[in-house]
Amino acid sequence: MFINYVTNYVDNCPLAFIKNKVHNTQPVKALSPEICFQLRDARRQAGLSQQVLAAEVGCKQSALSMFEQGRPTKLSTEVVEKLAKRLGISLTAAAPASGSPAPAPAAPNYAPGSGFCPNPQCPSNRAYQVAGRALYSPDRAAADPVGGRFCAVCGEVLERLCPNCGAWVHAGAVCSHCGQPYIA
Ligand SMILES: [Zn+2]
Ligand SMILES: [Zn+2]
Repeated sequence: MFINYVTNYVDNCPLAFIKNKVHNTQPVKALSPEICFQLRDARRQAGLSQQVLAAEVGCKQSALSMFEQGRPTKLSTEVVEKLAKRLGISLTAAAPASGSPAPAPAAPNYAPGSGFCPNPQCPSNRAYQVAGRALYSPDRAAADPVGGRFCAVCGEVLERLCPNCGAWVHAGAVCSHCGQPYIA
């Protein structure tokens, strides 16, 4: 029934390259929120930030963030395939039952409070306004109370460098070197 649906969809799809692609390989399963979470967990286990991975596969960090929250349509099929390949996840294999994520590896090699959480939705980031501009002030003590590698609140890989110029982050919401907000 599901296969019929996919086959009908592909046969009726005006994009011939998708049809060829699907017919030349195993059927690509419809992307579900589970695959989003699976790719998110694989990224975290690989120690990659959303920002670094998004740059590698050619998408916006914000789109990857929404994708990882269970919205598969936020990324193109091409980008999802690149993500899966990069992270060693098969899109044709059955996704494991979604449950508790794998425990984060311990890597306490950072100074306490040295990182910030790049996830704009994370409660460790507090929104405030400066001259009508919305900024997020990372609460590093909340996100990174013991110098861990992952956000203690949401589990995201913590960033330690300015996303724009690569300088080490300092106090406040924007880079003291180039003025870029840490979290957009
Ligand atoms: Zn967080
Ligand atoms: Zn900077």
